[in-house]
Amino acid sequence: MGRAQLLTTVSEFLPRDHGHFINGQRRSGSGTRRPVVDPASGKRIAEVHDGGAAEVTAAMAAAQAAFNGEWAATPTLARGNLLLKLAAALEAHREELAQLETLCSGKTIALSRGLELDQSVAFLRYFAGWAGKINGETLAVSIPPFADEKYRAFTVREPLGVVVGILPWNFSIMIAVWKFAAALICGNTVVLKPSEYTPLTLLRLAELANEVGFPPGTLNVVNGDGQVLGPLLIAHPACGKVSFTGSMKTGRVVGDAASQRGIPVTLELGGKNAALFLDDLSVEEMVDGIMEAGYLNQGQICSSAERFYLPAGKLDAVLQALSLRLAALKPDSPLDDDCLLGPLANAPHLEKVQGLIAAAQQDGDRLVFGGTRPAGEGYYLLPAAIAARSADSAIMQQETFGPVGAFLAWQQEEQALQWINDSPYGLSASVWTHDLSKALRYSEGIQAGTVWINMHNILDPALPFGGIKGSGNGREFGSAFIQDYTRLKSVMMRY
Ligand code: NDP
Repeated sequence: MGRAQLLTTVSEFLPRDHGHFINGQRRSGSGTRRPVVDPASGKRIAEVHDGGAAEVTAAMAAAQAAFNGEWAATPTLARGNLLLKLAAALEAHREELAQLETLCSGKTIALSRGLELDQSVAFLRYFAGWAGKINGETLAVSIPPFADEKYRAFTVREPLGVVVGILPWNFSIMIAVWKFAAALICGNTVVLKPSEYTPLTLLRLAELANEVGFPPGTLNVVNGDGQVLGPLLIAHPACGKVSFTGSMKTGRVVGDAASQRGIPVTLELGGKNAALFLDDLSVEEMVDGIMEAGYLNQGQICSSAERFYLPAGKLDAVLQALSLRLAALKPDSPLDDDCLLGPLANAPHLEKVQGLIAAAQQDGDRLVFGGTRPAGEGYYLLPAAIAARSADSAIMQQETFGPVGAFLAWQQEEQALQWINDSPYGLSASVWTHDLSKALRYSEGIQAGTVWINMHNILDPALPFGGIKGSGNGREFGSAFIQDYTRLKSVMMRY
């Protein structure tokens, strides 16, 4: 164990003239150069040209040409094989992509390797397995026939065209894979717009896709300012669907723009996810659960728990034990194999999280641990635990998307269920107890797209994932993705 030495491929990649990947080729573009900053040092590590109308037009035209041409002519099994080849390429380039991801996002190298890359490989293989299985059905016709006519009817699943995928900064490869693998296996082509903070890894991934044989134009990447590129991409006549992951605020803008064009949209938005702990657990079991649910990747996981409901008799003991566990997370270089506490992903995000902690203190919530910046460079923040004043405290309601757990004691379990559901969000939740019967009952009552029992944040490609209420609509993974990435056509014939 030690510190990852930057691979030559990484140190040679960083100073390139970065821009976009369009129609099977790197394209540097002429837009303003935007710095890419390493959150661990706050220093510039690369520059990427912002795209504009010219890049959007070129990417959408390439994707449309591939949709009507080479990709349409690629048999479904061959599409699956290409996803399998890309999975193998990601494995072969695991360390290179993991280092790039850590440099751009501040994610620890262990998470970049073991979660971002390994999960991406698993998801690529899962979606490849859908090749040949995306079908309609044969239906019994129910109308009475005229004379001796007979009828036969069936449905087919058709691709939607060019799918525009708009991405956040927290898992730049994995969330992109969710979108483009689902879109491509259904026969669509793709234009991705990464977050302006994490533009590099997808440029490299697109090159690998090209190398393994994806036809030019099937997978394109356009970088730049989302407020400029987003509306241009969605308004483009070739855009047949938008798949967006990001904040509720931007998601609403994206949803409105898509509905004005009458095209389908999948919105994977934020959450203020809850974890309910029942009284049969020990303090240690609760602290283990809280660490897993709330503090992985500095809380920068959309499904992470941010509000924790604990039995009144154990709250103080849990907060005391949790403080000790959080204190053991020492800030370190995220390139260090053993690093448990990397920086937050970017400066505006750090400022936002600090602002929410300060506002909570002003509102009368009690900061039990952390929430301050350690000495030194980079966007580090000591993970915070806050004892909330009440269920209505802003810190129990607003998403921080950071390492900030807010804690409240329940006297009666049913009261906690009400608090959990009293939220504009509904992405995920977890229930922790040895009483499986109770856990299943709570899983029925909780308003969220995913409810975990005695676990949190573990996603499986077979299990549909998505939000309800303000957390979005549509489902990724499982067979549910087929509905989001195809349209249904009915065919009826007389014989
Ligand atoms: P944002 O909503 O700020 O940005 C998401 C993407 O949208 C970025 O690529 C951004 O570009 C782009 N964008 C910005 N403005 C527009 C616009 N007007 N039209 C179209 N696109 C636009 O989210 P963050 O990147 O800050 O990500 C954090 C949020 O994402 C959190 O709320 C988190 O909960 C949520 N999230 C949800 C997940 C889920 O699966 N439900 C998973 C991961 C994150 P630019 O970078 O240039 O601003």
